[in-house]
Amino acid sequence: MNKYNFDPQPLQAQLLPLIQEILSSQALTEKSFSKIIKKHTYDKGRLFSKDQIIQGYRHFLAQDLIIADEKFIDRLRMKPIRTGSGVTPVTVLTKPFPCPGTCIFCPNDIRMPKSYLSDEPGAQRAERNQFDPYLQTYNRLLAYKNTGHRTDKVEIIILGGTWSFYPENYQIWFIKRCFDALNDFSIGKDHRDDVETMYQKKNDQLHVESRTRTDEVEDKVIHGIHLKKSYNQVISEIYTAPDKLLGLDKDQYADWEELEDAHRVNELVQVRCVGLVIETRPDNISEAEVLRIRRLGCTKTQIGIQSLQDEVLEKNKRGHDVEATRKAFRLLRQAGFKIHAHWMPNLYGSTPEKDIEDYKKLFSDEDFKPDELKIYPCSLIDSAELMQYYQKGLWKPYTHEELLHVLTKCLKLTPEYCRLTRVIRDIPSTDIVVGNKKTNFREIAEKSLLNEGEISKDIRAREIRQQKVSIEQLHLDEVVYETAVSTEIFMQYITDERKIAGFLRLSFPKVPNFVEELMDCAMIREIHVYGQTTQLGVEPEHTDGKHHQAQHLGLGKRLILRAKELAKEKGFEKLQVISAIGTREYYRKQGFQDGKLYQSANLDKPMLSL
Ligand code: SF4
Repeated sequence: MNKYNFDPQPLQAQLLPLIQEILSSQALTEKSFSKIIKKHTYDKGRLFSKDQIIQGYRHFLAQDLIIADEKFIDRLRMKPIRTGSGVTPVTVLTKPFPCPGTCIFCPNDIRMPKSYLSDEPGAQRAERNQFDPYLQTYNRLLAYKNTGHRTDKVEIIILGGTWSFYPENYQIWFIKRCFDALNDFSIGKDHRDDVETMYQKKNDQLHVESRTRTDEVEDKVIHGIHLKKSYNQVISEIYTAPDKLLGLDKDQYADWEELEDAHRVNELVQVRCVGLVIETRPDNISEAEVLRIRRLGCTKTQIGIQSLQDEVLEKNKRGHDVEATRKAFRLLRQAGFKIHAHWMPNLYGSTPEKDIEDYKKLFSDEDFKPDELKIYPCSLIDSAELMQYYQKGLWKPYTHEELLHVLTKCLKLTPEYCRLTRVIRDIPSTDIVVGNKKTNFREIAEKSLLNEGEISKDIRAREIRQQKVSIEQLHLDEVVYETAVSTEIFMQYITDERKIAGFLRLSFPKVPNFVEELMDCAMIREIHVYGQTTQLGVEPEHTDGKHHQAQHLGLGKRLILRAKELAKEKGFEKLQVISAIGTREYYRKQGFQDGKLYQSANLDKPMLSL
């Protein structure tokens, strides 16, 4: 019995009294909870998991065997922080596939899409689900639901290699299947068995082959002498050579109409996609590509910039220069995308001081200024080409003190409008040959910053999460900054301590736009309101009438009204929004009309009030 097919019914005699005891306990602590589950075991002493208890609660509630307690799931909810940003993230990985990059620091695990390691938890989940988008999405939603999280506002994050390099029909199919899972999950349909049967028939051979051929790649990249084949060669042979396709290409195919049908369904179902993220390389971004990913429904791109020094990019065989990154940022920003950059200190050819200069440039040069950032200090992975450089003494990891110095500076230099999503990549320590293995480096760097009498200003450090606030405790603050193509206004509702409850990214263009629909229009690039994810269209719960979680204060509406006001003052006639598929209906209610790839509001019309 696994967590996906747990049936509470046969265990009613044990599980029901356990749930009843939790329901009747006044204050549930970890200690009292532990006592209760040890009292009600099954199968000769096995303990029920929280996941199973929540499933049991829902099951017996449906049979009227217990009385509903709206706080029951809240009390058992595991890892509340995961959905505390207001949106439930569902991360899915694409299949192993060749990547146009030849970056020397990148792992070569042929069981995985490029740059991922097979023992990272997210990667293991993807592999268990055959890298299938439907299975990955559906099972993740189920896991969230079973652990008491709401699933009505979902951000789909697609990771793996270079998205733009996968065949277009695979991309369309992949996203369509993510939407199929959201749509099916909304109405209780479940096609996972059919999908699994299909893979069982076709995939066994594929997996056996990829596992048995791992050595070929390792020979090449670790020792550099017994060169056999690169990741791309092996993957091409297994997955894409005509005689090796095993028919999978035919199943992994959809066209634009099919995708757009799935989009339309998602506009009104219960589980909506409120954000769609892909990851790609700067040199894969062009005007046409930006329009194409927008058509797929994307709202944010993760983009590997790695370094702003041409010499470092070259030494690391990155395959593009800084100019490519400048161009990609300009195009993405003009099209309204949120830009989530990846940047790597400690690359071959850099130094702590050069890295700090690089970081300063990231936020002072008008071509960059990302909205979100992952800092991934370079780690030495056994299967990466960097191993040869290390063995020859050409590269070594920073010492703890050097890394701390760089990361503390980074925290200090990050402006309020940027969300620093990571300061270290969470790589299993067993994969790291040498260098930092601490995954809590953010905490360490924050302490070091505190010792200097400062705190991080970035969004993540200031998020209000589930804390309840009243509107009187918040004020609207506007951070204005210039980029090469726009004036950006970062509007944020904050407390006196600058804790952030919600924000809106408003963009006023400075140059003609290559997207016809957006010409001469102001643009909302993002709206985000914090709090435990709440159901769309559902009124506030558990409030004292004054203090609510930020998602219930109508901050989204207030921010939109203010954005309209500001845009009108600046002389714009239209305000566009890069809406996600599942937020289209919300924007329609805020007075926006559907365009081709965006939604827009006419600013000469009277505005809707709060
Ligand atoms: S582009 Fe990204 S995935 Fe491809 S080799 Fe470089 S780091 Fe790895």
